[in-house]
Amino acid sequence: MSTLSPLALPLDAYEITELLTWRRALHAQPELSLTEHDTHAFLRAALREMGCHAETVGGTGLKVVLGQGAGPALLLRADMDALPVQEQSALPFASQRPGCMHACGHDAHMAMLLAVAKRLKVNEELLPGRIVLCFQPAEENGRGALALIGDGVLDDPPVGGALGLHVWTGLPVGTISAAPDGVMAAVGEFIITVKGRGGHGAMPHTAMDPVVAAAAVVQALQTIASRRTDPLDPVVVTVGSIHGGSAFNVIADDVVLHGTCRSFSKELSERLPDLVADIAGAAAASHGASAETVYNQHTIVLRNDRTMADLVASAASSTPGVRHVDRTMRMMGGEDMAYYLERVPGCFFFVGCGNLDGSSEPHHSPRFVIDEAGLPMGANVMLRAVANYFAG
Ligand SMILES: [Zn+2]
Ligand SMILES: [Zn+2]
Repeated sequence: MSTLSPLALPLDAYEITELLTWRRALHAQPELSLTEHDTHAFLRAALREMGCHAETVGGTGLKVVLGQGAGPALLLRADMDALPVQEQSALPFASQRPGCMHACGHDAHMAMLLAVAKRLKVNEELLPGRIVLCFQPAEENGRGALALIGDGVLDDPPVGGALGLHVWTGLPVGTISAAPDGVMAAVGEFIITVKGRGGHGAMPHTAMDPVVAAAAVVQALQTIASRRTDPLDPVVVTVGSIHGGSAFNVIADDVVLHGTCRSFSKELSERLPDLVADIAGAAAASHGASAETVYNQHTIVLRNDRTMADLVASAASSTPGVRHVDRTMRMMGGEDMAYYLERVPGCFFFVGCGNLDGSSEPHHSPRFVIDEAGLPMGANVMLRAVANYFAG
């Protein structure tokens, strides 16, 4: 666009201060998935102060509709929940709640969406279409997006596109990533119970040792990635916990393995439950034991629409402070933003908030800290993308 709409002017110093004040206040009062009551009240008050009426959706979520017009609306989403992590950041505005921390940056997402909301509300008469702002609970457990969709956030008004963002400490400040197609993986969870027959640790021949069988299952599961699937179709199988036995000289009755599978294609994510169960069963059987597998599919592959990813990349390339626009980054982490993007074309993009030397702590770490200089950039990219979306 040759002339920049007032909607899309970069945030000014006052707006940036307000954004960071919101972010720090939210950071200090984190809440776990589906218990975001204080967060809900905070957001409702901030929205009310800027003249926005918020509807409650998905339990603790909020929805605001701005603008007018008959065409399809654009949905903007921020997630709200924190993690069961004891904060060790040493920040002056660190979590005041023991064992709970905004260790993924969802506090920043809410603050950026509040800044976007205020700018859009102030200029509401200039909005050429309708915007649906969604503050979504329970991203970390993968349940929030479907709850909001169930409450009709894509239907009233009808939504034709969706944008969301995630701060990312793996990218330096000044980098925005908006890749087309699949950018985040489908997430599956498995619980395998390896069943043997307990006995005396000195007389294994009189028992059926599930610990040895479980060790074989862990090894065999790795052949899913190395032998059973197309090497060009990424897959990760991780056994995150293993529990069994009670004493050094006793053979246990059973061992429970708890793990996750990540994949990038629908076909593979649909094959994985049977692959895990078959391999676990066969490996356990080779030791005379048996295995029972329960498999839960969490989120699906998150796919960015190519046109919407181009829209965000073009908005980012003209945003002050943005030095690099990446078009390729994808990762084996999962996101329930995938459920909106399964239904409407959209883009989920990443906002660099890490150190330039790559030394930042990863997400979910108790020492997770973001560089707040990335936050105005994220909000500015969102505002430009909104203006360009309706400019056609
Ligand atoms: Zn997270
Ligand atoms: Zn997150």
